Amino acid sequence: MEEVYIFGHQNPDTDSILSSLILEGLEKTLGEYNVKAYRLGKINKETEYVLNYFGIKAPELLEEVKEGQPVMLVDHNGFDQSVKGIEKANIIRVVDHHNVAESFKTNGPLFYLAMPVGCTATILREMFKVSGIKMDKITAGLMLSCIISDTLLFNSPTCTDKDREVAAELAELAEVDINKYGLDMLKAGTDLSSFLPEELINIDSKTYVTNGIKYQVAQVNTASIPDVLKNKTEIENAMKKFMEENNTELFVFLITDIIENNSQVIVLGKQEIAEKAFNVKIEDNTAFLPGVVSRKKQVVPNIDKIING
Ligand code: MG
Ligand code: MG
Ligand code: MG
Repeated sequence: MEEVYIFGHQNPDTDSILSSLILEGLEKTLGEYNVKAYRLGKINKETEYVLNYFGIKAPELLEEVKEGQPVMLVDHNGFDQSVKGIEKANIIRVVDHHNVAESFKTNGPLFYLAMPVGCTATILREMFKVSGIKMDKITAGLMLSCIISDTLLFNSPTCTDKDREVAAELAELAEVDINKYGLDMLKAGTDLSSFLPEELINIDSKTYVTNGIKYQVAQVNTASIPDVLKNKTEIENAMKKFMEENNTELFVFLITDIIENNSQVIVLGKQEIAEKAFNVKIEDNTAFLPGVVSRKKQVVPNIDKIING
């Protein structure tokens, strides 16, 4: 049986890595496909913490897919965020919690499951229930980690009652204290000390194309915004270089304080779009955005609205 690849988005976050592994486990139990989970980039520190905690190995790196390769996408659908060669792959499943991107297209029929919830793992939990498959302790722990990561421990406006309900159930199964484990996990992800500026802007970075305008929104989590801003000039230089190499017209770099739940942004390129989108004045390439923590709910839709006029 031909191998079916499962993967999340580029610059993978915890939800992308772990949901690939969780879906791999589910599909193996169902037995219809010969599946294998992959990753499209480096494992971040937060995900590394979770993998070590539960004693799980990271999936292998996938750089490109060949024409006709059967694939399953989790935690994304836009081709700009997917693997090289995705246009010619055979997409047989998508499990996702984002809007359907302009770039998404298939030639054949597919199983597409999207729900407006805080993370992909919450949808996978439903798939387990519908399939009548019993959940083991480790899978529950991995799912819980995805919810904590994507909702910033239930503080993001993307978090729904469904996520809270599922998380409580999973914490019991996984036998972990949500708040203690959750904070330890998020804090592991705020250790940015080993990253060069060009790596920092790529830890969690996504490309969007709206109405012909190509823009980038990257995000890092921190417990201290001033700490990250110490390297503002170096970060700006890395952003500039990225924009030149990728023909990016606007780059928004979010530095998110996970304790206070605010963000500072560094914006380069078409700053006027960001000023209108966030209703702020950008000075010295930066602005403070009180209460903003979610790229998906509080950043991208606002930018798209301005671009679409
Ligand atoms: Mg993600
Ligand atoms: Mg996600
Ligand atoms: Mg995220």
